Amino acid sequence: MLEMRDVTFHYTDGTPVLEHMNLTIGTGEFIGLGGRNGCGKTTVTRLLMGLEKPVSGDIFLDGKRINDEEAAARSPYIGYVFQRPERQMFRPTVRQEVAYGPEQLGRSREEVASAVTAALQATGLEHLAEAYPPNLNRGEKQRVAIASAIAMHTQYLILDEPTSGQDSADKKSLMALLSRLHRDGLTILIISHDMDIFAEYCQRVIVIGHHTKAFDGTPQDLFTKREDLYELGLNRPDAVTLSQAVAGLPYCKSVDEFTAAMLQR
Ligand code: ADP
Repeated sequence: MLEMRDVTFHYTDGTPVLEHMNLTIGTGEFIGLGGRNGCGKTTVTRLLMGLEKPVSGDIFLDGKRINDEEAAARSPYIGYVFQRPERQMFRPTVRQEVAYGPEQLGRSREEVASAVTAALQATGLEHLAEAYPPNLNRGEKQRVAIASAIAMHTQYLILDEPTSGQDSADKKSLMALLSRLHRDGLTILIISHDMDIFAEYCQRVIVIGHHTKAFDGTPQDLFTKREDLYELGLNRPDAVTLSQAVAGLPYCKSVDEFTAAMLQR
């Protein structure tokens, strides 16, 4: 379990970003992190990654306080896909990029090779193994970042707005990959402004409001019980609105589910 306990944080200009923030990410969960622009979502993930340190409060991994562990020490168990994944790539080929993590962990040449092969396979990148990472498109770069995490056998994968600016085919393919990795045991935290992702893929959604957590629960509760979605920078997914408009229809988390439910009536 990855935990943030009573964390307060501001950048050097002193403007409060987070105050007394608590959150838990249980092993095996698929969690969405939402809220208005600038509410502190990326900051939360940077604190979890060790790229920022809390002003007060603690970060725990499986009950062990890790405030003083640098990002490099956390990377074997917490993988990260930046909003701009090219910023995390600096080797000349995809294969070498993905090999970097396990090499840093001191794995043998054979272990590195087999971890890289498995990670490229899992992310559908085998055909790009010798490609130059800066030449890839954003979706491919994201997959390289995901493969780099998988090659280190990380337990947690954090993704910052991975589907923003992507067309629906790229979005579906990325979400299908994440669902597969989740089924195989990876714990996922995804920052998003896309309510369909929260409804369709996440078991739990955490929303940051005024410097702290404003909601923590199921997408069903978020989209059917909260009346302040707009204030929280969220909206209700079409499928949920449609299913609520038809008397007796169950909560539908995708338009496909809504269509199927209508056909069964
Ligand atoms: P979100 O991801 O929810 O859009 P961020 O975590 O990026 O929000 O930012 C939270 C707040 O911290 C914003 O007001 C933002 O302007 C500020 N901020 C983010 N990064 C820095 C930084 N490096 N230095 C100073 N302020 C920052």
